[in-house]
Amino acid sequence: MEQDNQVYTRLQRHLDRQAVGFPATRSGVEIKLLKHIFTPEEAGIACCLSHKYEPLETIFHRAGHLVASAGELEQRLEGIQKQGLVLQPSNTAKAAFICSCCGCCCGMLGIHQDLPKPLEFWVANFYAAVDSATCEGCGACVKRCQVAAVSVAAKKQPAVVDRNRCIGCGVCVPACPTASINLVKKPAEVRPPQTREDLHDIMMAGKKGRLAKLKLAGKLIVDSVRTGHMNLFKY
Ligand code: SF4
Ligand code: SF4
Repeated sequence: MEQDNQVYTRLQRHLDRQAVGFPATRSGVEIKLLKHIFTPEEAGIACCLSHKYEPLETIFHRAGHLVASAGELEQRLEGIQKQGLVLQPSNTAKAAFICSCCGCCCGMLGIHQDLPKPLEFWVANFYAAVDSATCEGCGACVKRCQVAAVSVAAKKQPAVVDRNRCIGCGVCVPACPTASINLVKKPAEVRPPQTREDLHDIMMAGKKGRLAKLKLAGKLIVDSVRTGHMNLFKY
C-alpha cells in the first residue's frame, strides 16, 4: 500500500514538472484524483510519459522495466487512452502544452457543460457524426463524452450529436462497438495563431473597450438565467 501511495506521489511530481503543472495540495485531493484515474501500474507508466508525441520504442526505452514487452506497453497505453480523457492542446499552431482532462474536474470542460451553445465561445474543426443505420443505441458514446454532446433518447434508438456542443475531441470514437460514430472535418478550417504571444494579442484586442466586456458579461448573464446554471457567474 505504501509503495502504491509512493507511485501516485511520484506521478503528481512528474505532472507538476510538465507545462501546465499539477501541484500538491494540503488536502491531498490531487492524489485521490490520480488514484481515481490510474491503477498503480498505469501510474508507473504515466511517470515515463512526457507532453511530446513519441514513438512506442522511445517510451519503451524509459518504461521497459515496468512491462514484459513493447507489445504489453502498447496494450497498457491503449487502456489508458480508453479511459477517455480529452486531449486539449493550447490554442496555438505550435502546441505549448497538452492537457488530459475529464469533464468533472476541468474548468474549461465544466463551463462547456453549463453553456447552452458552447461552440459560440470556442472553435472546433471536427464534429462527431453517427451512422444511424449501424448504431445500436448502446449509449457507450454518451458515457464517454465529457461535454454532454451526444445522447440516446431511448434504448436502441440511434445516438444524436448536438453540433452546438460537440468539440470534435474523438473520445467517443474508440468506445463504439459498431464503429458507428466517427469524426468529420468541417468544410472551413479555422487555423489557430502561431504562438501564445499572437494568441494573447488577439484576445486582448477582443477585450478592449467597455462595450466588448459588457457584451460578454451580458451574454453570460442571459445564458445563466436561461439555463438556470447560476454557477456560470463564477467564471
Ligand atoms: S467528439 Fe463530440 S460527441 Fe464525441 S466525445 Fe468529443 S465532444 Fe463528445
Ligand atoms: S457507442 Fe456507437 S452503437 Fe453505441 S450509441 Fe454510440 S454510436 Fe451508437
